[in-house]
Amino acid sequence: MDLKAFLTSTHYFSDLSDSELNTLIEASTVEECRPGQKIVSRGQPGRFLFVLITGKAEVNFTDTLGAKLFSATLKSGDVFGEMSIMTGEPEAADVVAVEPSQYIAAPRDMFSQVIVGNPAALHKIAALITKRMTQKEQNEALLAQYKSSRQDNPDPYDLNFSSALKPAKILVINCGSSSLKYSLFDTSNPTPLIEGLIEKIGTNASYHKVKSQKSEIKNETAVPDFPKAFLEMETALTDSTIGAIAAFDEIDAVGHRVVHGGDKFKNSAVITDEVIEGIRQCIPLAPLHNPYNLAGVEEMRKHLPGKGAVAVFDTAFHQNMPESAYLYAISRDLGQIYHVSENIRRYGFHGTNHNYVSLTAATYLKRSVRELRIISCHLGNGASICAIDHGTSVDTSMGMTPLEGLAMGTRCGDIDPGALIYLLNSGLSVKEVDNLLNKESGLKGLTGLSNDMREILDAADSGNDRAKTAVSLFCYRLKKYIAAYAAVLGGIDALVFTAGIGENSAAIRGRVCHGLENIGLVISKEANEKAKVKRGHIEEISAAGSQIKILVVAADEERMIARETLHALNIAKVREAAAPEVKAKRQIPVYITGHHVHLCEKDFATLFGEGKTLTKKHQLRQQLSFVAEETLTLSGPLGKIENVRVVAPLKTETQVEISRTEEFKLGIDAPVRVSGDLEGSASITLEGPAGSVKLESGVICARRHIHMTPADALSYGIRDHDIVSVAVLGRKDVVFSDVFVRVNPNYTLELHLDTDEANSAAISDAATARILEIQSRAFI
Ligand code: ADP
Repeated sequence: MDLKAFLTSTHYFSDLSDSELNTLIEASTVEECRPGQKIVSRGQPGRFLFVLITGKAEVNFTDTLGAKLFSATLKSGDVFGEMSIMTGEPEAADVVAVEPSQYIAAPRDMFSQVIVGNPAALHKIAALITKRMTQKEQNEALLAQYKSSRQDNPDPYDLNFSSALKPAKILVINCGSSSLKYSLFDTSNPTPLIEGLIEKIGTNASYHKVKSQKSEIKNETAVPDFPKAFLEMETALTDSTIGAIAAFDEIDAVGHRVVHGGDKFKNSAVITDEVIEGIRQCIPLAPLHNPYNLAGVEEMRKHLPGKGAVAVFDTAFHQNMPESAYLYAISRDLGQIYHVSENIRRYGFHGTNHNYVSLTAATYLKRSVRELRIISCHLGNGASICAIDHGTSVDTSMGMTPLEGLAMGTRCGDIDPGALIYLLNSGLSVKEVDNLLNKESGLKGLTGLSNDMREILDAADSGNDRAKTAVSLFCYRLKKYIAAYAAVLGGIDALVFTAGIGENSAAIRGRVCHGLENIGLVISKEANEKAKVKRGHIEEISAAGSQIKILVVAADEERMIARETLHALNIAKVREAAAPEVKAKRQIPVYITGHHVHLCEKDFATLFGEGKTLTKKHQLRQQLSFVAEETLTLSGPLGKIENVRVVAPLKTETQVEISRTEEFKLGIDAPVRVSGDLEGSASITLEGPAGSVKLESGVICARRHIHMTPADALSYGIRDHDIVSVAVLGRKDVVFSDVFVRVNPNYTLELHLDTDEANSAAISDAATARILEIQSRAFI
């Protein structure tokens, strides 16, 4: 088969140049299939763009009972799989061959790169995506099938690397002050190929433990320094008896755990000289961790030059916390008045695992993490709890350092800072206070026995009063935080226990949940006692009637680091591929969104009278949307806002968008959400000329977002639901991160900022913006 001649004869690929065709063909495979055989299964991740060469295939959308909703026949030259590539959602329908068929599978990255470079081909594919998106939006049953396809995907968050196009080997490195921990993952294998730990580096007692799929050994070996430790690791990985690879450069990429990324790193970062400098600048925030994490990064650069490496930060997941959660109530002018660093704020830690368990819980619950409110309790030697609202960490118990929050193995957790002053005034040195609060407090300080919860529980069982008090205090404080975070989130869908104590101690889980029945948490005594989690597994321990699911998830930071490594490197590839002329020239108009209300039909009729229709005041850039003449009053517990415009068209649910300043005026707390994501949002009363409506929920503070068409998205190399950072151009560019991308054929390219953000950065409606980078995507 002359593939080049075939592709040139098709509608979609006829504009590609000879070299573009060569690039595409080289990366693609040609497959054959029999009648009845599935080419695509509903729920599988969108890894390829398919082109049918010969034969016939059928796309079948069926409902949950198997009844056909929609079907289409594909013939030679037709393409499929493009919707998953655009949305990142799994395939929504089965594609089945009805004749002996031959098809091309082009890996999605290669396809995007080739298409992005060819405006005519891009236009044709964009037109196809537009057609299919419109088809989907106009058919409710079909839309439901698209939405529910996630439930048929066993790995919607790629925690098992199912998006990988070809197997890759990823080495995960965690380099501490005197230890080197490493795991080697193969994306086609569910468990790590090999895991190793070199401890007590630089002492006489150093040792090396290795566990592989072949065997497990522990050797006392002299490891005087880090360079020797890395050589030890390399030898173990390539050892013919225990090792997993023949040569070290079989490793495709390296992921590094880095403890502190300050407020610089909101996501994992591909390592460059600039990123190394950024990690170095965070050393004052984590002097006991970052220097060693950095040493690991630099050592691996020597061992595997030219291989992609990624830094994954413990702090990154928490970097979208609101100011009220991350600020300490101290002077905002520490630099100016006291000449000290202004980095004194809360950052939070354990972010990699809090994120991992929230995604694991969402996978288990077969729901999108973007519709769940989760509290995650990471209870290891170090312990922290995190409130996760629709996938974003909105508060966590550790602060500027890992000392704040829960009582831990040896750390005190929350303490009156006045007690520190008292200790210092009592003659203890700074070093002694540091040692007392970090190493001699927590369970160890309270019991004088141990920092190990197992020993303390045993001692408590044998009647030791101090041990009983330590257990009670540990659980009391955790319980207090759970209830506080339930208030922060406005309710909870799932409570997750993870890490050493969380995974293994039914006694602690039981004590913590006891008495929380009134907030909807009911634990099953039997399931709790029976729960045994292994890595990669999850147990449900809530009672049948519990409103809130209680789950136990095994911590797996290493797997999450490997996944982050894959994703960050893939995103970097997309960024490089996006058409240079688009990146340089195409600017995005900025639209500053003041408060406004979208009404559903019923509420509109109540507020403005039966039979009334909306009157256009002025058109908005987004097609179908206009600002109406009609206004209403928002009435909150503390105040009112009058003359709030209604924006057409009418929607299925009423939604009120206001700014932070206005929330304050009204006396309500509205979550930052994407339009349409209203569950658990704030309540308000709307007053119109014909009546009033009390909304139980519906008030949000709109998350910054960009509207774009499929063609825009393709040319930027961006997908629906990507999170990007943008620069608003001006005399001094203003950078906004965490901008949500929404792709729809009816949209017009536009960045929406709310009035507070625009005012504080002195941005006007005439401004334009440029996309800087993709920060993250839900699914690669
Ligand atoms: P780290 O935070 O050091 O990574 P882990 O997540 O491995 O630690 O948690 C270690 C802690 O878990 C130990 O200090 C121990 O107190 C606790 N732990 C482990 N198993 C049990 C158990 N069966 N019951 C109570 N506590 C346990």
